[in-house]
Amino acid sequence: WTKAKVRGGQEVVLGGWKTTNGKFRSLMAGVYRGSHLAFVGMVGTGFGQDTVRRIMPALKAKASDKSPFDDKDAPKKTRDVHWLKPELVAEIEFAGWTDGGNIRQAAFKGLRQDKPADEVQAEVPVMTKGAKSLVRSGRSSASKSAEVMGVVISKPDKALWPDGGDGEAVTKLDLARYFEAVGDWMIGHIKGRPCSVVRAPDGIKGETFFQRHGMPGGSDLLKLAKVAGDRKPYLQIDRVEGLAAVAQIGGLELHPWNCAPDAYETPGRLVFDLDPAPNVAFSEVIEAAKEMRQRLTAVGLQSFCKTTGGKGLHVVTPLLHGARDKVSWKEAKAFAQAICQWMANDDPERYLLNMSKKLRKGKIFLDYLRNDRMSTAVAVLSPRAREGATVSMPLTWAQVRADLDPKKYTVRTVPALLNRTRAWEGYDDAAAPIKAAMKKLDGK
Ligand code: ATP
Ligand code: MN
Repeated sequence: WTKAKVRGGQEVVLGGWKTTNGKFRSLMAGVYRGSHLAFVGMVGTGFGQDTVRRIMPALKAKASDKSPFDDKDAPKKTRDVHWLKPELVAEIEFAGWTDGGNIRQAAFKGLRQDKPADEVQAEVPVMTKGAKSLVRSGRSSASKSAEVMGVVISKPDKALWPDGGDGEAVTKLDLARYFEAVGDWMIGHIKGRPCSVVRAPDGIKGETFFQRHGMPGGSDLLKLAKVAGDRKPYLQIDRVEGLAAVAQIGGLELHPWNCAPDAYETPGRLVFDLDPAPNVAFSEVIEAAKEMRQRLTAVGLQSFCKTTGGKGLHVVTPLLHGARDKVSWKEAKAFAQAICQWMANDDPERYLLNMSKKLRKGKIFLDYLRNDRMSTAVAVLSPRAREGATVSMPLTWAQVRADLDPKKYTVRTVPALLNRTRAWEGYDDAAAPIKAAMKKLDGK
């Protein structure tokens, strides 16, 4: 007997490729729907170094300066996106189609020389007699279990959010597929750091708990991280597939440390959490974020904004953390506090640094306390266990303006929006030394 895993095959038209730091990363796939080339997702695995070397000349020969895709959900041009004339056909292996008509877990098999691109249509699987009887007997029915990124999702139909903003419940399977869709984007901001999880196994209306520690017997896709000062290991998610394991245990929110990857004692980013009192207009929070950005720029630090999926905004600053640049948590926290204090001193009517809910009246609490060794902030692209299945959405600074509505970023809407945004572009290259910033701030 040989045991073979049966996955679907499909031909796709290549519409472009993506690079990270100049290195080949993935292919952009399309299929013809009528006469329109529709973007159907990325092909991110199946490339050995040899493969890349072999296909690169073919890609370069078909390079184009405009997008071949017609649909509005297709990715936008960024520095990392390289368009192709829609003439190359690739064979892929994949795990099926998403409800939105995208390919799931696509792996590259090879280029097809023999097939004209304009004949490539989505091959809808035809149910054979055998498959039909399997479905009837319930053995492969979605109500029993499903698989996402190789992880079995039990009770896939379980409603975790009663309403995803469109009147329909967001299920456990929806959550796992959300993580699959945004995982590549988000994993770099999580991996290498202990990461707490807010679990809501019975949905957001049921009991929720904030879990820091890993459990023995848990998924081996979730790392158990040894942290100095705690006997019990912490949860850590280093692989995209680990996100599916998180969905499987009803983990809705991810809250990583802000350390540098695999260096728990070293601050890797600063997070400024802008927390408005209940009666403060959201437009005030937007102004506060822009002002925070200006102050950080003034001391030589670049920053990036995200919604929280809740009522405030987070401003995030990547830090250089090499041997020469790294500082202690104590220094990083003192610096974050000093930045907030500088802002509050100049405008005490609007800002305060005191946690007290009583004093906060009408003001925005500048929470610098996320910047400590064991402190966490919700991860970029993490869903929230809150009404509407909102997500902590990365923003461009141009989006941080009066009409920003954090509620429109949900588990349902974000995957397509993420394909099109330039938010947080250049994040890694933006890391700057905090030591120089500390000196500059002293001089202010
Ligand atoms: P909002 O914009 O609504 O304030 P937020 O994510 O900033 O959203 P906060 O209530 O300000 O929410 O929480 C700040 C951070 O505190 C969270 O992001 C989380 O990482 C951290 N935190 C620490 N302990 C807990 C806990 N037990 N439950 C939830 N969050 C916790
Ligand atoms: Mn907050």
